[in-house]
Amino acid sequence: MPPKTFTEILLGGLAPDGGLAMPESYPEISPAELESWRSLDYPSLAFEILSRFMDDIPADDLRTLIARTYTAEVFGSKEVTPIQTLEPDLHLLHLSNGPTLAFKDIAMQFLGNLFEYVLAKNNDELNILGATSGDTGSSAEYAMRGKRGIRVFMLSPYGKMSAFQTAQMFSLQDENIFNIAIKGVFDDCQDIVKTVSNDQAFKQKYRIGAVNSINWARIAAQIIYYFKAYFAVTSSYGEAVSFSIPSGNFGNIFAGHVARMMGLPIRQLILATNENDVLDEFFRTGLYRPRATIETKQTSSPSMDISKASNFERFIFDLTGRDAARVKELWKSVDQGGSFDLSDTDLWKKIRDFGIISGTSNHAERITTIREIHRKFNTLIDTHTADGLKVGMELREPDVPLICLETALPVKFADSIQEAVGFVPERPDGYDNLEKLPQRFEHMTADAEQVKRFIANQVGPSHQRHG
Ligand SMILES: *Cc1c(COP(=O)(O)O)cnc(C)c1O
Repeated sequence: MPPKTFTEILLGGLAPDGGLAMPESYPEISPAELESWRSLDYPSLAFEILSRFMDDIPADDLRTLIARTYTAEVFGSKEVTPIQTLEPDLHLLHLSNGPTLAFKDIAMQFLGNLFEYVLAKNNDELNILGATSGDTGSSAEYAMRGKRGIRVFMLSPYGKMSAFQTAQMFSLQDENIFNIAIKGVFDDCQDIVKTVSNDQAFKQKYRIGAVNSINWARIAAQIIYYFKAYFAVTSSYGEAVSFSIPSGNFGNIFAGHVARMMGLPIRQLILATNENDVLDEFFRTGLYRPRATIETKQTSSPSMDISKASNFERFIFDLTGRDAARVKELWKSVDQGGSFDLSDTDLWKKIRDFGIISGTSNHAERITTIREIHRKFNTLIDTHTADGLKVGMELREPDVPLICLETALPVKFADSIQEAVGFVPERPDGYDNLEKLPQRFEHMTADAEQVKRFIANQVGPSHQRHG
């Protein structure tokens, strides 16, 4: 598609042909510039990085938006993403201290403020349509609740999220928040979002936008903590680090990939999957074979129960040397429920240059990891973080610091913690009676037309965009 400004991409979601938007090029950060960022606090670092991607927001406004988002009040500390050193060369990067206790808040809280700012400026409104397997939904709703000019329509697989995750979302009573529970799995929800977003007329008429991890602004905001963590565990340029990332939709690790492309000295990006191991299969064998809905397993790390990784397309775009036609060709078969195999191609030879390696864990291994980390370091981790730690410790290189991304707090997955260590994690203040609060949601079958009708009814003719 013809190039667009940052704000147009922000509001538009998918490209007109259903593909994902990418920046025309990545900013390159020289070693000297990188070193000059070393002592910056989180908001200043965020400004340096985000301003490289946001071409149409005045610098002063961007600074204000960042300052309002990345506060100790919202994220529990001035550091925003503190590092905990478990032992020499093994670190935990805490990304889960935002309002919904999962890493998605870091990008989403910024997105909420950004949307409100842009919509007010354009005298416009936006109906956010999203799909969630757990954490995206609550994170989006907490970021958008009460925001002017914004409604949220969030699809989730009925009965498939943890009780805590469900309660977090469904207990919200804000008038601009609509929870839609779909009979099916996450991928059914995601397919509905794609179908609705591909209906250009409907999308235009009802001002439909996205906050899924395909939203470029979210990727951009996630790049920041890779830099922050790098500075926290190194003392000078030339030192390299590796990251391990519990992965589902490939959004978090893709942000790490972008950080690496920008010049951050990252050795390995270690991708961890749970029993839904589509991505692990690809990085081990070259075969990308998204699974069918009925093959998607419900696991103890539900935010990673994904069989079709939406951001993966962005990585393949880079792998092909930014050859959009080739990506389109590969996705032709994926979109028809098929697969592609790169093992015998020129691309597979290139893949090592990108530093991504992968592994997987099962439930028993995650439980053992939670128990071991608690015993050795007196630290409780959740099931997703356990996946990353398990795979990271297996695949890491000696003498390279490993930073494991903590993607949720253990309190969100109390059953598994109980199983691992024999007690339930303490809840932060204000979360005590969450599951007992009244819940508000719609129940629907996996039918895009029904979802469209619901949106049309809520938005109503008087709220459609004028002119
Ligand atoms: C969303 C999520 C993931 C997966 O992140 P992706 O960006 O989709 O790869 C992992 N852990 C938790 C707790 C999450 O909420």
